[in-house]
Amino acid sequence: HWGKGEEKLSYKELQQILLDTPDAEKASEWSKYYTSGPHLAGKNYSQVLWTQEKWQEFGIQADVVAYDTYINYPLGHRLVLYEKSKAEDAESWSVKYEATLEEDVLEEDPTSGLENRIPTFHGYSASGNVTAQYVYVNYGTYQDFEDLVAANVSLEGKIALAKYGGIFRGLKVKRAQDLGMVGVVIFTDPGDDGQVTEENGTDIYPDGPARNPSSVQRGSTQFLSVAPGDPTTPGYPSKPGVPRQPVDSAIPSIPSIPLSYAEAIPILKTLNGHGPGPKDFNKAWQENLGLKYKGVEYNVGPSPEELVLNLVNEQEYVTTPLWNVIGVINGTLSNEVIVIGNHRDAWVAGGAGDPNSGSAALNEVIRSFGVAISKGWKPLRTIVFASWDGEEYGLIGSTEWVEEYLPWLNAANVAYVNVDVATVGPIFKCAASPLLNKVMYEIADLVQSPNQTVEGQTVGDLWDHKINTMGSGSDFTAFQDFAGIPSIDFGFGPDPEAPGDTGGAVYHYHSNYDSYHWMATYGDPGFHYHVTVAKLWGLFTARLAEAPVVPLNATDYAIAIEGYISNVESKLDALMSGEVDEFAIETRSRPTPSEPQGDVEDLKLSFKILHKAASHLLRAAKKHDAWAAKLASQADQPIPWYHFIQKFHLSHNIAVANKKYKYLERQFLYQKGLDGRSWFKHVIFAPGLWTGYAGAVFPGLVEAVDNQDFGNARRWVGIIEGTIFKAARSLH
Ligand code: GLU
Ligand code: CA
Ligand code: ZN
Ligand code: ZN
Repeated sequence: HWGKGEEKLSYKELQQILLDTPDAEKASEWSKYYTSGPHLAGKNYSQVLWTQEKWQEFGIQADVVAYDTYINYPLGHRLVLYEKSKAEDAESWSVKYEATLEEDVLEEDPTSGLENRIPTFHGYSASGNVTAQYVYVNYGTYQDFEDLVAANVSLEGKIALAKYGGIFRGLKVKRAQDLGMVGVVIFTDPGDDGQVTEENGTDIYPDGPARNPSSVQRGSTQFLSVAPGDPTTPGYPSKPGVPRQPVDSAIPSIPSIPLSYAEAIPILKTLNGHGPGPKDFNKAWQENLGLKYKGVEYNVGPSPEELVLNLVNEQEYVTTPLWNVIGVINGTLSNEVIVIGNHRDAWVAGGAGDPNSGSAALNEVIRSFGVAISKGWKPLRTIVFASWDGEEYGLIGSTEWVEEYLPWLNAANVAYVNVDVATVGPIFKCAASPLLNKVMYEIADLVQSPNQTVEGQTVGDLWDHKINTMGSGSDFTAFQDFAGIPSIDFGFGPDPEAPGDTGGAVYHYHSNYDSYHWMATYGDPGFHYHVTVAKLWGLFTARLAEAPVVPLNATDYAIAIEGYISNVESKLDALMSGEVDEFAIETRSRPTPSEPQGDVEDLKLSFKILHKAASHLLRAAKKHDAWAAKLASQADQPIPWYHFIQKFHLSHNIAVANKKYKYLERQFLYQKGLDGRSWFKHVIFAPGLWTGYAGAVFPGLVEAVDNQDFGNARRWVGIIEGTIFKAARSLH
């Protein structure tokens, strides 16, 4: 076979190794190791060395790459509800309620009671000691705050009580801060846990799969959508001695703390009857009110003057090393590289779901490739493995690494494959650049599902085949949005509608109960989903690394782009015809749109050139994919050794085709970046300005439209058109 002459293993044999090697007992052992004690960013060096040694044992060369990063560790916290006594002497305040800010120690779950367990706190939160009246702000989305402003609820100088959910938590704090609030308490509402709740009669963890009322979600409050990575070094690596930038626009200046639902109840109840309630607002305020049955009415307040919260948050800020473990298998081609990665750091001693289900799966993938190597296999393309540190604080390890190796990645990286949470339930979830859709569909059909209602069902059979656009929230962000490398992120999530015994266990995200005990009892008993992810990940990587013709699909990208354009256009139509008075509030970058600027008619007309560019790209993409398919089928046919000219032509053509695939995603980068957040260079995908996790398509354009700055929107149409044409030309 072409190019396969000296290999001892066929592709089929390699696939079989990647399907046969991952093992449930091993996955359980790795999970147990990683989740046996605290491993916060910058405080997990023993796990760094262990990971490096394991990979070396598996036969993979591995190094540690360190960065000096600016991060915080918790020193102290306090949340007290004070009540002014009704007596005449106005100055007497008494403690009405004090939250413990601790999760319960559960005998069944040993890591929940470790002496060195990690306190509840927020990454990159500001130290502070504030005392103020408080307001319930629903999820704290941009729209929620707009609703409060419209209802004349006074926010300035108050503390916000926000529910987790919907958007990235740091953006809740950002909006509260922008509106002059002085602190934020973010609590978990069991109304967001679907059907599997205490209210519905499901036993709570550890006795059952419902949320333990004391569970607290830690997490970062950096302003993710401005720029990920070390906030002191946007755009360049945090090497010792580099200049450091001020952090004010990247992280909060007001304090925040997370809270359990058990400890939110007494505070929320004091708002009953004060200020507007859910019925006075839109639907977003009326759903998932999981504490109604506990007597919480969800009035917004503000709290009466006699009731104030004292919020104390003490953080220590340091510049300290973080460590990535980077493994490599050198391929025959050094200028075509596949990178795959998972983060290692967790908010808690456990982290059995986030991220160490992925870490366990990654070890099994690497062990499987090691087996193949021991049988004489060498990949066609170079494969790089990454165990990232500091993801939780702000995707730090991956972002700094991409910033450091940008010239090399730009020249050589074909794709990045991310798994963060490999499994916390049975539902397959995926987000990707459309270039990678086809490979995912193909691979999902090759792996048996651990939960088969019909014998032989594959992951693909049980998957809705929905592939989301790339937003943020994990380590693919720098690859996709900064470096223009097609990326994919996948894993199995919970089914919150199912009863507990069929996979509906509530995932205790960023809580002490995301532990080995939870995983082994409710999340993935038997570790079969861990194994499934290892198989999918290994096969996916092998396909990218081994196919003589890079298996990206340009046509899928072009079709997706046409869809995105039509989507934005119909929203613009709705705006122009007065059907909606807002475009997409989550993308707004300034508070209240001033007078519309520029000519909306002109903007609308300019969509013609976008459609034209897209159809141009579609034609070029179809042609390129067809040529590539032909080359791929030729590469599959044996060519007798003496037809060396034919061989030479084929390998030359394949190299040309592959280079075009490799650089296609890069064409969508705009070096000046998005307005107000120039780190983000991709004109098609970015995290939504006010969503964070969920992606925005054509972020520059939609933000400008929502700001009613049609002149700037027209400018973005030109930029986007330029990149689409550039992409089309790159395929010629
Ligand atoms: N997965 C992390 C979280 O959602 C990402 C943190 C970040 O992007 O800053 O909390
Ligand atoms: Ca940096
Ligand atoms: Zn994670
Ligand atoms: Zn996380």
